Amino acid sequence: MEHIENDNQFQGLRVNKGIGEQPTVNPYLNNFKRFKRKSYTVTEYVDGILKGNISILSQAVTLIESSKPEHQIIAQQVIEKCLPYSGNSVRVGITGVPGAGKSTSIDAFGMHILKDNCKLAVLAIDPSSEVTKGSILGDKTRMEQLAVQKNAFIRPSPSAGSLGGVARKTRETIVLCEAAGFDRIIVETVGVGQSETAVHSMVDFFLLIQLAGTGDELQGIKRGIMEMADGIVINKADGSNIEKAKLAQSHFKNALHLFPLPESGWQPKVLTYSGYYGIGISEVWDMIDEYVAFVKKNEYFRHRRNEQSKFWMYETINEKLKSNFYNNPTIQAELKDCEQQVLSSRMSSFIAANKVLDTYLKQS
Ligand code: GDP
Repeated sequence: MEHIENDNQFQGLRVNKGIGEQPTVNPYLNNFKRFKRKSYTVTEYVDGILKGNISILSQAVTLIESSKPEHQIIAQQVIEKCLPYSGNSVRVGITGVPGAGKSTSIDAFGMHILKDNCKLAVLAIDPSSEVTKGSILGDKTRMEQLAVQKNAFIRPSPSAGSLGGVARKTRETIVLCEAAGFDRIIVETVGVGQSETAVHSMVDFFLLIQLAGTGDELQGIKRGIMEMADGIVINKADGSNIEKAKLAQSHFKNALHLFPLPESGWQPKVLTYSGYYGIGISEVWDMIDEYVAFVKKNEYFRHRRNEQSKFWMYETINEKLKSNFYNNPTIQAELKDCEQQVLSSRMSSFIAANKVLDTYLKQS
């Protein structure tokens, strides 16, 4: 039987004449690379930000987030020059457990805010961002409507470093956003621990998103978080869930009345709404406006911001001292040695700590 595939013309390894290498697949790539590489002077950054140029603002935020010392130097100068133009916004912190509906709600709140000709920046502090690389919170794909609005700026959580470091970067980003004309700032965080304190220390109003559950939802939240809240909102008050949400509302109201009145003099409110169906959105935002008017009148607004500035001064000092200490090679070696001595009970913890601190203080 004849096998036509054995014919020479069907044999596999054949070298064909190739074509010359193309200079580039995408003729616009080089322009793009040049564009990406463009770095601005401090004055160019500041001018761009003050003109509301989003691309320059984004690049400046990237500098803030960078751990490279040369980027930090420029970032700090830009921040300092933008500071006089900052402060003119209402800053709202939003927290809630995963699934509480933060992104759905921020999308809805944001669209409501933009109707008033405001400019909104959505920033985030994600305590798990070292693992998720900051992609979970403040993610554009989670806020579909807002993401395409020209007056909205959405930025995911900075990913590198300690919670304190990440929070400081978000606070610095607020300064740049305000200088760029954003008059509403939302800082989102996951309600799982420490990060609420960080967000609380940089916002004017702290909003806690809750879900109606089985009736004992109060047991799950830490007292500290409830005490921080200026407003509690129960999401997903729609369909068959409305009754449950109303019940949860009265539980939270009762619980809040057991706390002493906050320093602001404002009795925190509890509302129900549905982020998904857009029910009660304006009421939530009216509450925030009412609060802002209230604390501006009694001067607490200014007082809180001053206290926050003081807090961040000390936070920054603490953070810098710590990183300077732990990154010092002599200290690193001595710490290792002392740790061994403590573990083998040859030295007490206090003597070891003082020994290392003495070395550090003598050096500086
Ligand atoms: P996040 O993890 O807190 O950001 O929560 P998401 O916004 O991603 O919402 C979690 C889930 O709850 C999603 O499946 C949403 O569609 C749903 N969801 C959010 N808001 C509402 C609401 O108001 N009503 C109802 N029924 N579902 C909602």
